Amino acid sequence: MVNEAEVVIVGSGMGGAAIYRSLQGSGLFVVVLEAGRAISAGNTHLRNLLPRGDGGWRTFLSVMLAEGGTTSAPLPGLGNCCGVGGNALVWSGIVLRDTGASEAEFELAASWLGARIVSGSPRQEWLREAHGLAPVPLAWSPVEGWHGPMQLAGPGYSPLPSQAARRIVHRGGRAIGVEIGDRIIRARHIVVCAGVIETVRLLWASGLARELPGLGRGIAHHPVAVAQVAIPAEAWSRMAEEPDIDRPAAVREFPAADGAHTLIIAEPPWMADGRAGGRATLSIYAYTTLDDDPNRRVSFDPPCFDVPRTAAETRCEERALSNAKAWAERLGPILPSGRPRVLPRGADQHLVGGARTGDTDDPLAVADRNGRLRSLENVWIAGAAALPTPVTTHPTQRIVALAARTGALLRG
Ligand SMILES: Cc1cc2nc3c(=O)[nH]c(=O)nc-3n(C[C@H](O)[C@H](O)[C@H](O)COP(=O)(O)OP(=O)(O)OC[C@H]3O[C@@H](n4cnc5c(N)ncnc54)[C@H](O)[C@@H]3O)c2cc1C
Repeated sequence: MVNEAEVVIVGSGMGGAAIYRSLQGSGLFVVVLEAGRAISAGNTHLRNLLPRGDGGWRTFLSVMLAEGGTTSAPLPGLGNCCGVGGNALVWSGIVLRDTGASEAEFELAASWLGARIVSGSPRQEWLREAHGLAPVPLAWSPVEGWHGPMQLAGPGYSPLPSQAARRIVHRGGRAIGVEIGDRIIRARHIVVCAGVIETVRLLWASGLARELPGLGRGIAHHPVAVAQVAIPAEAWSRMAEEPDIDRPAAVREFPAADGAHTLIIAEPPWMADGRAGGRATLSIYAYTTLDDDPNRRVSFDPPCFDVPRTAAETRCEERALSNAKAWAERLGPILPSGRPRVLPRGADQHLVGGARTGDTDDPLAVADRNGRLRSLENVWIAGAAALPTPVTTHPTQRIVALAARTGALLRG
C-alpha cells in the first residue's frame, strides 16, 4: 500500500498521462490515482465512456439533483466528459492547433501524441483531387487503435484504479496529501487532472472555493453541427483495397479567425454506424467557438450545473449549421440520415474550464499560467479544467502542451 509519494497525480486521463510523461526519467516517485476501474487484464488501459442513456449524464445529473442541485440547461454529452481515462476508445486524436501554448509546446504535444499526417492513401488523394482538401495530423496507433492516455504516458504507466481522491488535505497554504478512502497519501506535490467537473468538485471538497472565486466558472463546450454525404460508388471502388481502411482518413480543417472550422472525415461503410445504408461516407463536423462567459459554471454548494443558453450561443450554432450545410451541398449527395443539424449541447465532448489557469489579474483563473494553484503552493491543475479560454479545436493537443509545461516545472 502506497502511503507517500513525491508527486501524486489525481486522474489518469489525458492531463494526468501528459504530466506522467513529462516526469518520466526524473527519478521522482509518482503515483497516479484513478477513480475508475481498470477494464482490461493487467490494467492496460482505462475507459472513458460512461454507459449512455440512464447510466450516463442522466445519472450524473440525477445524483446532483438528488443532492439538492439545480440545472438550468444540462449538456447531454456531459456524462462522457466525466468518465474514466480520457479519450481512449474512439477515433479521437485529431490535433489542430489552438491558442495558449507556444509553438514548441504544441510540437512536443503532437510528438507525444504520435500525431502525424497520413497522406498518399487513395482516400486522401481522392479528397485532394476532387475537392482540394488536404489532410491534418491524426494521433492514431497503427497497431491496435488509440488508447489515448496509455499511449501518451509511455512505459510504466500504472494508474491505481478505483482510488478516488476525496479531498486535498492542507495546512498553512501547503498541501500535505490526498485523502482516499480512510487514509491519506502524503505528497510533496499534487497535480489535479480529474476532468472539468471532478476537478472543480475536488477543490470544492477541499474547502478551497472561498479562496478561489473563479472556481467552476467560465466552463465552455464546443458547438458543432454535423452532416453526412455519400462517397460516390465509383470513387469508393478505387479506395476499398486501401491498407489502412479501418481508420478515419483525410481530415481537413478550415479555420476562421474566430476558431470556426470544419472537419471532413472519409469513413468506410462499417464506420458509418449503419446509418448510410452500407455506403462509404464523408462525415462533416462544423465547429464554432463560444464566447468567454463567467456565468457558465458548475458549483457544489449546492451542487449545480448552470449553463444558461445565450443569444451568442445560438448565433454560434447557426453559424455551425450554415457551415455544415455549405460543405454538405458542395460534397453531396446528402444522406437522408445525414441532413445537416446542430448536435445537442455537450455532445461535442469538449467541455473545458472551471479551474482555469491565467494571469494574476484574471478573476476567473484559479491557477497561474504554469498551473500552480493560487491558494496552495504545491498543488497544480492540468487537463481540460485548466484550459484558460473556451476551446477552439479538439482540446487534447492544448491539454498536453500545457500539462507538459507544468510537468517541466515539477521536474525542475
Ligand atoms: C468520447 C470522447 C471522444 C473524444 N474525442 C476527442 C478527440 O478526438 N480529440 C480531442 O482532442 N479530444 C477528444 N475528447 C475530449 C478529451 O477526451 C478530453 O478533453 C480530455 O480527455 C480531458 O482530459 P482530462 O485529463 O482533463 O480529463 P479526462 O481525460 O476525462 O481524465 C480525468 C480522469 O480523472 C478521473 N477522476 C475523476 N475524479 C477523480 C477523483 N476524485 N480521483 C481520481 N480520479 C478521478 C476520471 O475517472 C478520469 O479518468 C473526447 C472525449 C470523449 C469523452
